[in-house]
Amino acid sequence: MSDEIQLQPTPAEIAKAAIVKRLEAQRDKLDAAIITGFNRKHPDSKERHWPEDFLHENGMYECICLHCRHHFLGYKRRMCCKVCASANEETKNE
Ligand SMILES: [Zn+2]
Repeated sequence: MSDEIQLQPTPAEIAKAAIVKRLEAQRDKLDAAIITGFNRKHPDSKERHWPEDFLHENGMYECICLHCRHHFLGYKRRMCCKVCASANEETKNE
């Protein structure tokens, strides 16, 4: 019985979880707006982003690819867009 009571979240934990959920939803909306705006400004960059970087701190910087000079969104120290990175992977495997 006492184990069951310990597993119940406290009102403070429930309130905290609701706030975190609301903030994450706001962040997702902001991220989507940033990506939409960026793609409007750089229509040739849609496939060049690194979406796996976006949730990390400093993961949504506007970068310029060292190879093709196209703009893309990703971690601030990335030097290569996703298109050029995957092209390099393919030539490596040949
Ligand atoms: Zn590139």
